[in-house]
Amino acid sequence: MTIRAIVWGENVHEQTNKVVADLYPEGMHQTIADTLNRAGEITATTATLQDPEHGLTAERLAETDVLLWWGHAAHGDVSDAVVERVVEAVWSGMGFIALHSSHFAKPFLRMMGSACNLTWREAGERERLWVTSRNHPIAAGLPNHFELENEEMYGEPFGVPEPLETVFVSWFQGGEVFRSGLTYRRGAGNIFYFRPGHETYPTYHDANVQTVLCNAVRWAHNPAKRIVGVTDAPNVPVDQALEPIVERGSRLHQDGEEGFR
Ligand code: ZN
Repeated sequence: MTIRAIVWGENVHEQTNKVVADLYPEGMHQTIADTLNRAGEITATTATLQDPEHGLTAERLAETDVLLWWGHAAHGDVSDAVVERVVEAVWSGMGFIALHSSHFAKPFLRMMGSACNLTWREAGERERLWVTSRNHPIAAGLPNHFELENEEMYGEPFGVPEPLETVFVSWFQGGEVFRSGLTYRRGAGNIFYFRPGHETYPTYHDANVQTVLCNAVRWAHNPAKRIVGVTDAPNVPVDQALEPIVERGSRLHQDGEEGFR
């Protein structure tokens, strides 16, 4: 069985910043998709902010197992209708992987329900990621710790809800630490946040980072059939109650009336 992944890229700095363009001539999203396609059992395509409907039509999302998301400068340009579509796909079983500055991406904020804020510094510091959940599938094949020579610093406190699992913790040269790999479940969807990936550094060319991304796609894939009508909230009539009941008291709604939203 092949896992169908989309790597969504904001694709702004690749077009406007020479350092980023030189590191990722075809965009970070394409580099990540190429990595996933080399892994086996994953078929990855790309979508960008500039595509119609950001490349995320309902039809395409319905045939997607895992969506990876990289955004930074243009979170606000993402259509709220597309965000809602992505969130409902996750609730119905699609996996979602938020990369680096996507802690402020609209779909991630919506699903976390918290500020998702952090401290940061762009100083090319060494980052050391420690595996904090041994034998976690996302850490398969990794050493107990690995380094990225140049990265942006993200520091605690990270304003996210308590995760299901913390897979990585990062240390930075300046002394800060950060929970760099976090898992969540929202509805039937598996969510993973992975911190590294600042656009002016070659992070997505790093072999250990690539291992994490491939593992994360496999982990986030929910093989169960997608839930249909995941936001439905049906009114069950008295005569359809599982046990016979007699209606009592006064009521607000007429028969067959939609509930409030
Ligand atoms: Zn960054």
